[in-house]
Amino acid sequence: MSKRTDGARRAARIEHALKCPVCGNPIRVEEDGRLLCRDHHSFDFAKQGYVNVLTRPAGGHYNKELFEARRRIMLDSGLYAPFHEAAAEWIRQMPVSDSRPAVVADIGCGEGTHLHRILEKLGGLNVAGAGLDIAKEGVQLAARDFQSAVWLVGDLAQSPFSDGSIHAILNILSPSNYDEFTRMLAPGGRLIKVVPGAGYLRELREALYTDERRTYSNEDTIGLFDRHFRRTETVPLRYSVRLERSQLEDLVRMTPLSWSPDPEAVNRFLDRESAEITVELDLLVGEPRD
Ligand SMILES: [Zn+2]
Repeated sequence: MSKRTDGARRAARIEHALKCPVCGNPIRVEEDGRLLCRDHHSFDFAKQGYVNVLTRPAGGHYNKELFEARRRIMLDSGLYAPFHEAAAEWIRQMPVSDSRPAVVADIGCGEGTHLHRILEKLGGLNVAGAGLDIAKEGVQLAARDFQSAVWLVGDLAQSPFSDGSIHAILNILSPSNYDEFTRMLAPGGRLIKVVPGAGYLRELREALYTDERRTYSNEDTIGLFDRHFRRTETVPLRYSVRLERSQLEDLVRMTPLSWSPDPEAVNRFLDRESAEITVELDLLVGEPRD
């Protein structure tokens, strides 16, 4: 089966959760490998197996190299493994129906490893994954390597998900749109938002910066979450991972922190065999306030 056909078949499993991003009508997955609404808006699956539902072109700060660095470090280092286990554990606790698969949507999925790994841990549950990101370079990598989910290039502000259709929203180190999250969530559904803690990648921040970027506070982000969602649980994750030199290089490449560091500081940071790197993440779990 071609990746295009395969991608369309996976989308057919979550057809009930999809709508046309242009007119909002329900959308069907056609056998020829495209999404089609009754007003004839149509979106073709690409040969890599993803579908682009953007209604206008998007510019972005991300590039392929960043996504590839992120991919390598996630697959090789276990940097986020405890987080994947915690997120899967949360989803496993949620009630799922026996009929239609419950949809787990990763909003801002990037190159897809987080969602893929979490879905792997949910094997046996009647769930289907969908990853949405505005950066085509990320979604292409996801579709190339992971046949575990439906991969969509799209804009969260004009999303292809229908009202009340999503069982769990993952929003991992990525911007939020709480109105859209509220609209998309199914009754009893949960938002699982992951925010960095103050010590997240501390060693990297301290090595690369001398200014206020050395420290980080997640207070504003959490405050915004709490204004829109009622928090039902907070899972703090604190651990460290030893990274080899090549992984440290990827770490520098993969993070937006690296957009403008002093090259000398980068060289000093990389001039070592390995380093212990701190991971501090907070999982905020919540339901819409209204
Ligand atoms: Zn339409």
